[in-house]
Amino acid sequence: MRENKNICYNCKTHLEKIAKEIKLSEPEFNLLKRPKRVFTFNIPLKMDSGKTHFFNGYRVQYNDALGPTKGGIRFHPNVDLEEVNTLAFLMALKCAVAGLPFGGAKGGIELDPKILSKPELERLSRGYIREIHNFIGPQIDIPAPDVNTDEQTMAWMTKEYSKIKGKFIPGVITGKPIELGGSEGRTIATGLGGAFILRRLVKMKKWEPQETRIVIQGFGNVGANIAKILYDWGYKIIAVSDVRGGIYDEGGLNIKEILSKQAEPRFLPEMESIKKITNKELLELDCDVLIPAAVSHQITKENANEIRAKIILEMANAPTTPEADEILFKRGIKVIPDLVANAGGVVVSYFEWVQNSTNEHWSKEEVFEKLEKKIIKAFDSLYLTCKTEKCDLRAAAHILAIRKILKAEKLRGNL
Ligand code: NAD
Repeated sequence: MRENKNICYNCKTHLEKIAKEIKLSEPEFNLLKRPKRVFTFNIPLKMDSGKTHFFNGYRVQYNDALGPTKGGIRFHPNVDLEEVNTLAFLMALKCAVAGLPFGGAKGGIELDPKILSKPELERLSRGYIREIHNFIGPQIDIPAPDVNTDEQTMAWMTKEYSKIKGKFIPGVITGKPIELGGSEGRTIATGLGGAFILRRLVKMKKWEPQETRIVIQGFGNVGANIAKILYDWGYKIIAVSDVRGGIYDEGGLNIKEILSKQAEPRFLPEMESIKKITNKELLELDCDVLIPAAVSHQITKENANEIRAKIILEMANAPTTPEADEILFKRGIKVIPDLVANAGGVVVSYFEWVQNSTNEHWSKEEVFEKLEKKIIKAFDSLYLTCKTEKCDLRAAAHILAIRKILKAEKLRGNL
């Protein structure tokens, strides 16, 4: 028989691992290992030079059982169909875990955005929407920013979509600037969501914030924001790092001072008086909470035995490899999985979509209050599932997400 080319092989591998935690029937497995809809397209771009270049564009709507699909658009040279499929599948799980009425999607253009001028980037972003406008919409599929795309990209895309449809439709895209219907609080939402979860856990453990020693890898949007929030709440941040290395003070770093001296986003300032460490040393520091907030695959089977944190809060996507996960579990180190730890961003995206649908604009305080309720509810149900199923938090996230999606698929008559 001819091989079925629609399968997402990475998703199938994920599902095979999940199948150890949750029994899937053959039809359930067959439904989940394939994306619902895949769009690949060729985007022409008139360069500043007058020449036309062509770029590969993708949009995958992996599963829409729980609602319109939701997921970012990235501009990166490594974008290909398998990657977009995998990320769309993970978005479906994340939205389900966070209790959002969304399915999972992802999109992208295969390119290095650094080679384009700003007007070329604008034309390409608008070109992406021209190819896909019939298949996205507030009740169909709602894109958002991702790697190398930002609120300016989302503004161009929203304007292009609205121009084609003949009216302003802000609910088609989230992560927009506030002036175009964006939500208050979106920039710090991911960091704040993680901080709310950590605060809950610290309270459950009856630890005192000022005695809770925290180490953070990565000082970009997520790392710097969670560092600032936790510092303001009185936690002791003993080390932080960027791609070049870290700084460490057992007595606690002054995050406010570090931020005030920061010359470039994503990079730590030069601080002569503070001890320097490598990223390897940082990950292996004796601490209470380790927060990987940089890139994937930082905790591997090579260093999992050296980790001395009691809790790992996964703010980056996939910072822990499956092999490392097993080692950490055996060593009794609690891992708060990325699916819930960094879901704050998509939760506030959902709030933006709700505000756009109701023509409302919520205050920052209202957004943060709602975010805390939503993310803590998701975290608590993970904790409960963990206890009832006697599994770790990552397995609990998979069990919860897959059960919700399959229940909706059954109700829709697809199983
Ligand atoms: P960013 O580009 O703003 O910052 C990344 C930081 O990590 C920078 O300080 C960079 O110097 C550092 N870094 C890069 N490579 C490193 C390495 N090899 N070792 C140590 N540090 C390194 O990115 P971000 O938006 O803060 O995202 C960080 C992570 O969080 C990513 O995995 C991203 O997918 C995930 N995430 C982000 C959001 C969001 O809203 N921004 C939402 C969900 C998940």
